[in-house]
Order: sequence, then C-alpha cells, then structure tokens
Amino acid sequence: MEPKDALTLLRRGKGLSQEEVAARVFVTRQAVSRWETGETVPGVETLKLLSALYDVSINTLLGSPETLRCQRCGMPLEDGIMSREPDHTINQHYCQWCYADGKFPDVSLHDFIDFLVSQHFIPGVTDKQARAYYEENLPRLDYWKERL
Ligand SMILES: [Zn+2]
Repeated sequence: MEPKDALTLLRRGKGLSQEEVAARVFVTRQAVSRWETGETVPGVETLKLLSALYDVSINTLLGSPETLRCQRCGMPLEDGIMSREPDHTINQHYCQWCYADGKFPDVSLHDFIDFLVSQHFIPGVTDKQARAYYEENLPRLDYWKERL
C-alpha cells in the first residue's frame, strides 16, 4: 500500500477529519491533505506523533513497505506483537518479549540461543539445525551486533 492510502485509511478509521488530525500533530490541514494526495510524506517527528495518535507502527503508517523482524530474536513483527516504550509508544525494532518497560532481558547470546532451541519455534527442524540457524542469523541483528 502507498503511504497516502495508508494515511487516509487510518485517519478515516479513527473517524477524524483532516483538520482534527492537523491539530493533533501540529501541522496545517493543507499538510494533511498533501500526504493524502501523495504530494509529500510526513517528517520523522510527525510520524512519531501519528504513530501515537493511531496506535500503529511507523511502518504501518507508510503502508508497510518493510517486512520488519525483531532485532533481538529475529521474529517477523506485526504491530500487535511489537514492543512498547515506557510511555506506551510503539518501538518497531523489537518484539514485546525482547523489550519491555524500557529494558532487555540480560541474557548472553549463547544462553538465548539455548532458550530459542528449547522452545522449538521453527517447525520441522532438528535442534541441531535450529541451533545452526540461530548461530548464523542472530549475530546479524542490531541488538547483537552492538553487543558482540
Ligand atoms: Zn524478539
């Protein structure tokens, strides 16, 4: 979906007029109109305000251009399982199990892989295959890249 269509649908879904959205995110009604005709897209700070207003991720505001994965466990992310900041805004980098109340569980990569393997999250593979998959892929995620 294009950002203009996503932004229009989300606004209508909340039953808000362009004027009402404009007032809530501190822009002009014309700015909201330009997003919905596809002339412009909201800036980063405005996207954050819209994310809070509609309670959806920035990726969803933009029409879901990216397939997001949790940057700690690798799980595909949809809005419903994304983590939240202590102020309740959505953090689209992590799932709700990897990041909560502003914190990550303090677990080493080695112990985390042991845990993931024991949970059998990947259907139809042996423990050895699952371990090899996690050992190859987890270190590429932002959380582990910063810590290894
Ligand atoms: Zn996760």
